Amino acid sequence: MDLSTLYDLIVGTLLVAAAMTFWERRLHPARSRELAVWALSYVSFAAGCVVAMNRYHLPGISGWALANLIMVLGYLLLHHGVASLEGKRRFAWSAAVLAVIALVWTVGGDRFTGAFWNYLASLPIAAVCGMTAWTLLRSRVTRALAVRPLAVAIFAVHAAFNLARAFLAPVMVSFYGESLLPVLAKATMYEGVLYSVAVPMALIGMVREEAQGKLAAAAHLDYLTGLHNRRGFFEKGGQVIDRCGSGRSVCLLAFDLDHFKAINDRYGHKAGDDVLRLFADVARETLGPEAILARIGGEEFAALMIGQEAEGARPIGENVALRFAEAAAHADRLAIPATVSIGLAELSAGSPDLQALLSTADRALYQAKALGRNRVEVADPQRRGRCCLT
Ligand code: GH3
Ligand code: MG
Ligand code: MG
Repeated sequence: MDLSTLYDLIVGTLLVAAAMTFWERRLHPARSRELAVWALSYVSFAAGCVVAMNRYHLPGISGWALANLIMVLGYLLLHHGVASLEGKRRFAWSAAVLAVIALVWTVGGDRFTGAFWNYLASLPIAAVCGMTAWTLLRSRVTRALAVRPLAVAIFAVHAAFNLARAFLAPVMVSFYGESLLPVLAKATMYEGVLYSVAVPMALIGMVREEAQGKLAAAAHLDYLTGLHNRRGFFEKGGQVIDRCGSGRSVCLLAFDLDHFKAINDRYGHKAGDDVLRLFADVARETLGPEAILARIGGEEFAALMIGQEAEGARPIGENVALRFAEAAAHADRLAIPATVSIGLAELSAGSPDLQALLSTADRALYQAKALGRNRVEVADPQRRGRCCLT
């Protein structure tokens, strides 16, 4: 394949990549900016290739310099998009890099033509591409993505290739002679074709995987309170119980807001929602980050506490009930007399898994309702019957 065919091929793949990446914005509005910047970078690479193909028609070194500047602009845009995933902007940095390169090319570009355009022109590309690999490697938002290592590897390999072109190629040419130059040019273009296919695939793959992850997380969350939903509770709680084995005590608190239907009827559904959110906040704060807290039904919540026996969990449940009643009565906009009843059960041979544990805690909860509400009842009959709140 001759050089101009490789140029045609790479321009074609870059324009297709730009169009597909730009189109992808419709599916991922949250990453619209990044996708647009990457699409623009592919257009920039394609423009750089077109100028490079026609560089001999332009005066002096201007064709070489312009092609290189447009190419580096493409790499800077790619880097800007990757940094933007983390909310960072790279405008000033990019403008400074372009200005320095333009200055270097203007001062020395037509003095050391061979060295500059055959070898050194690859240096800024290697630097920016290496920075992109590094930025992606350190990025927190993409840490969990399976595609990320692949994307880092693509940028790193391309950076290494361009570094080798800047430093290794002159040594090889001094050994084997100038006849090696066209071979190197072809190798560069061939690697460029692969890069122009791999980068858009990896970046779009990352955006898609991130969106999938958000959807999967949302499927496990309760939209109103931000707590786990029933599904999230059973998945996470089940895993935690399996992991902690029989060595540690596990308690479950089942909460049900009292006379909640009457609250809705009297104060309206929106005020009811506010009470649910308030309960979630109070429970989250009182139980701490260790507890697995979920809204498992309309006005029903559950908390799984690891390493906690019933004796220790009971006052914690009482504390939730007290603080909730207090907060609801005194909250600025609410001032609603809301209370909660709580059933408490401990993982044991009689309640060996999460489903059984929840059923046992539910039975204690019915007991708490029957005994007057706004109280904690423990499933174990030995500990039952103490009125704790009123
Ligand atoms: P009890 O003390 O026996 O638990 O009585 P209750 O009124 O709390 O129980 P009941 O099961 O009769 O009513 C629960 C109410 O919760 C009925 C339903 O309209 C309301 N509810 C369920 N989900 C939501 C929600 O997301 N927002 C609001 N505002 N209300 C909800
Ligand atoms: Mg209920
Ligand atoms: Mg209720």
